[in-house]
Amino acid sequence: MLRVNICKRPFSSRIYTSTLSIKLFEVLCTHCRGLRVQPMAQGPAGVMPPFPSLSAVLIDLSGTLHIEDTVVPGAVEALKRLREVIPCVKFVTNTTKESKRVLFERLIQLGFSIDQSEIFTSLTAARSLVERKELRPHLMLEPEALEDFQGIPTDNPNALVVGLAPSLFSYEPLNQAFRLLLHGGTLIGIHKARYYKRKDGLALGPGPFVTALEYATGVTAEVVGKPESSFFLSALKELDVKPENAIMIGDDVKDDVLGAQKAGLIGALVKTGKYRHGDVDRFGEKPNYVFEDFPQAVEFIMLNMSNTQPS
Ligand SMILES: [Mg+2]
Repeated sequence: MLRVNICKRPFSSRIYTSTLSIKLFEVLCTHCRGLRVQPMAQGPAGVMPPFPSLSAVLIDLSGTLHIEDTVVPGAVEALKRLREVIPCVKFVTNTTKESKRVLFERLIQLGFSIDQSEIFTSLTAARSLVERKELRPHLMLEPEALEDFQGIPTDNPNALVVGLAPSLFSYEPLNQAFRLLLHGGTLIGIHKARYYKRKDGLALGPGPFVTALEYATGVTAEVVGKPESSFFLSALKELDVKPENAIMIGDDVKDDVLGAQKAGLIGALVKTGKYRHGDVDRFGEKPNYVFEDFPQAVEFIMLNMSNTQPS
């Protein structure tokens, strides 16, 4: 393990142009409240690429900024500090239990300073797909999420949209969905998260139910949420930012971090929310960065932004 003090030094030249062919090293910064960072990934020659010039930050919500009605400690203040150096921020979420408006009101209540237009959800992406294909979906969604599909025809359905709908994930509703697919319906999975974090522990996400319907019918779901590359690229398109100039911060190593990296963004995993020990090594490819929590990720970004500013 190599420890390097990066304070007041240009980060890229100090660390990442090094020819050290090590897989993992730790950066210890005594200037920023003992900030500890683990850059994880390697470039082609076993060396991290330079930290990019960032124009935008994509931030996951549940598990990263809050867990249900509890704010991750320091997250409200960290978001304020982040906006001072990077005004282009988008909150990208697979949350499908609530509409964008309900989500926005919850975040405001928790103390976050955000605009509703900064939220990009997988419900939005699913609605766009339904409209583009002119489908009439049966919506397997919680009542709180239905308003995001207002105006979409749902009579005589020829498609099934599945989100996180715990109140509908029982035999009869699933059997109704099964029959619709057997009759030629299109299957749209808003996302296929395996599980998510609740106050009482981990809970099944929509992924296992979408997969069960695929298994039973032989129909393959079209998935629109994280970790699909199209989801991240659509969010960045709204900001007019290229993927190589953006970082994604989230607690889901597969859906947030590796998904974003596949789309060309920098990925940063936080060890809050659904994070479990061993996640970093669970899928072969590793996150570009691993942080203890969102505030630490912000400290790291701010430090690098200030170090790469022309003097
Ligand atoms: Mg999350």
